[in-house]
Amino acid sequence: MNRILIAEDEHRIASFLEKGLRGNGFATTVVEDGVRAYDYAAGGDFDLLILDIGLPLRDGFSVLRRLRDARIAIPVIILTARDSVADTVAGLEGGADDYIAKPFAFEELLARVRLRLRADRVPEVTVLRVGDLSLDLRARRVNVGGQAVDLSTREFALAEVFCRHPDQVLTREQLLSHVWGFDFDPGSNVVDVYVRYLRRKIGPDRIQTIRGTGYRLRP
Ligand code: CA
Repeated sequence: MNRILIAEDEHRIASFLEKGLRGNGFATTVVEDGVRAYDYAAGGDFDLLILDIGLPLRDGFSVLRRLRDARIAIPVIILTARDSVADTVAGLEGGADDYIAKPFAFEELLARVRLRLRADRVPEVTVLRVGDLSLDLRARRVNVGGQAVDLSTREFALAEVFCRHPDQVLTREQLLSHVWGFDFDPGSNVVDVYVRYLRRKIGPDRIQTIRGTGYRLRP
């Protein structure tokens, strides 16, 4: 099932989108400000982002720019007011895949969503490589500098998240939600414990601690 992140602060529009998309077999999550929009989109759990320009805390342009700066390639459909289409097109700089002017018919949006998801369907990556660290996702094999390394299921899942986001600071919350699920106690130190396990197996210096924030895999 395709997962769609909706960043829209107007409840009426957000629930219109959510109902329509769910009715067409998509899983949806709504966020109402630009900071969350970035965090959720960067977390890698979504296949497409529907992004309103006029969002509190951080506007849609800024969210999009940050995503592209961080080389996060999630397809984005921008929602913009009809009278600011010219500004929107100018502001996209090729970073977004599409835009749609409000008000819009749901079917029109649905067609764009389907098109973007199809266009985005590139052959699935099965081996992730970061420097001399490689993860074979299908065989669940890990190699460090040509040496096979044994990882537990959780360690492998954690290593996979790091390898999918090299050189990116990942917060404990992001790692928790990816590897342990959203309902895990956010106060738990399980992430730190598993990062220690992982360091022991793949080398102590690959995963850098970002004090007060989280961790980063050195590229
Ligand atoms: Ca808005």
